[in-house]
This record gives sequence, structure tokens and C-alpha cells, in this order.
Amino acid sequence: MNFTIQTPNPRLQFRNSLTRRTRTDGIVIHHYAANVSVQTVHNWHLGNSWAGIGYNFVVDKDGTIWNGRGMEFVGAHAANNNAGTIGIAVQGDYHNVSRTMPDVQFNALVWLIRHVRERYGNIWIRGHRELMATACPGQHFPMEELQRLQFRGDNGGETPVPGEEIPAAAFRVDTQSSPLNVRANPGTSAAVLGTIPRDTLVTATRRSGDWLYVTGGSLTGWASTQFLTKMTQEVGDMTEDRVRELIEEVAWAILSGDGTTPSGWAEGEFAKAIAAGLTDGTRPRGFASRQETAIIAYRAMKAAKRKS
Ligand SMILES: [Zn+2]
Repeated sequence: MNFTIQTPNPRLQFRNSLTRRTRTDGIVIHHYAANVSVQTVHNWHLGNSWAGIGYNFVVDKDGTIWNGRGMEFVGAHAANNNAGTIGIAVQGDYHNVSRTMPDVQFNALVWLIRHVRERYGNIWIRGHRELMATACPGQHFPMEELQRLQFRGDNGGETPVPGEEIPAAAFRVDTQSSPLNVRANPGTSAAVLGTIPRDTLVTATRRSGDWLYVTGGSLTGWASTQFLTKMTQEVGDMTEDRVRELIEEVAWAILSGDGTTPSGWAEGEFAKAIAAGLTDGTRPRGFASRQETAIIAYRAMKAAKRKS
């Protein structure tokens, strides 16, 4: 997929001249927390007495990429981290409003990050909230999916093999040590779309020979049955009651020492699971992954706290 970087017309007028960066260590991702134009954000930041828009680039919902401060200049977007980073913001509010990102905006973002890395090498990518206490770029921002740098709908240029539909079933990734390759089509010559870590639970919905079409997190594609172990009936068809029993045990096990707040681990898994779209946060699926168990445990803990 191909995108280009546009310069706003009329050009953004900066209050004073911008400073060139002397090093580039990473990319910080933001959202606007609003559905406004690049010009509006520029005006907001001028209102902060800044030189002008603080981001180096911004990406609209329709996939248009705009120059903010541009590639080479120091931004104003991440306190204490501006000197060595490039700030990229997306149009929209991915915390309180939008739950999913349009494919074209996501793909433009992937293209832009690749473009920046062609210039500066394999620099890190972090969400703003990994650097300071903020919700930015929002609980629904697809950060893990983005960090795979894989275009959505990209099938490695191959004609997809449909396979044969099977009843949805849970499998555990059973590789020796390396993660599981997920491919665009059945067969080892097909393009690798991404990898899923060992011991992750995935759901299979189609089969073609010795290959299964699986979903794990936000990655979907074909994986060899050689590295997948079918979960037992008990786990695969776990009842709500059994899930609840397990949750009670887990809920208390993951509380921190004071017994009233969830551990950082549970909080983190909860945020990740929501961001990955694994759950709407209200009910478990047929089987519970580690992340889903954390969610349910978190809710159980909140309920227990209300009662006490
Ligand atoms: Zn931010």
C-alpha cells in the first residue's frame, strides 16, 4: 500500500523557527482525543504559547498523512522525551469515543512508521502513556497490532485459500521455543503475517489439509497443526459455573498485599485485552485465555470490593 506525506495548504505558520533534532531514538504515538483537523490542533498548540503544532506528523481517519513539524525538527508532544523522538498523532479519540480504527488510517500509520524507520533505522515505538501518566493514545488504540507493523488485509499478495469450515475450537500453541508462524495461506512457502507466542490459546475456524485458520489476539492466518494442541473438552467447553469457580480463586490470588486493589499485572492485562478487542469486558467466551481470566477476575474483585 502506498501513501504520501501532504503539506497543509495554506501552510501552518509557526511562531518561531524550529530546532533540528540531533538524535532520534524512538517514535511516540498519540491521539488528538478529538475529531478535528490538523489546522485546529495547530491553533490549540499555538494557544499553549508553543511554536505551533507539537507533532511531527499526523494521520487523519481517511488515511491522509500531514506534515506537522516535519521529519527533522524537535517536537512538543512528550515531556522530557521531545529531544530524541518523533511524535505521530492520529485524528480521533481512541479512549472515550472510537473503539476501532479505520483500516486506511491504520495502514497509513504503518506506512509512515516504516518511512521514518527507513531514515533512522529500527528505532522504538511507544504509546505516549508508556512514557508518562496519560491515557493517550487511548485504551482502544490498537498498539499491539501496530507494533507488528503489518498492513491490515495484507495477504502477502497471494490469492487466499478458503479452506473448509470447522466447528470453532481452542488450540494451544505448542512450539518447542520459538513463536508460531502465522501465514497468509496454508503451506510453508506462504508469507508470514506475524507470530504468536508459545502457550497462547488460539481459536481455529477452518482447515485445509494439515493447516488450521486461527485467530490469536488480533492476528489471523494459517498455522500448521504440527504446532497446535487441541484443548481438552473440559477447557474447550468450560461452563460459566466452572469459570466462576476458577475466577474466585484467581481473583484473590492476583490482589496486591492490601487485598483491596488489583495487581499491576491484572490492570495491565485488562487494558491489553480491551485494546486487542478480545472481549467487550462484560462476558467470557467459551474458553478463557490468560487475558480474559484477568478481566473476569478484575470484575469479580470490583464486585467483592463493593460488597465489603
Ligand atoms: Zn499524547
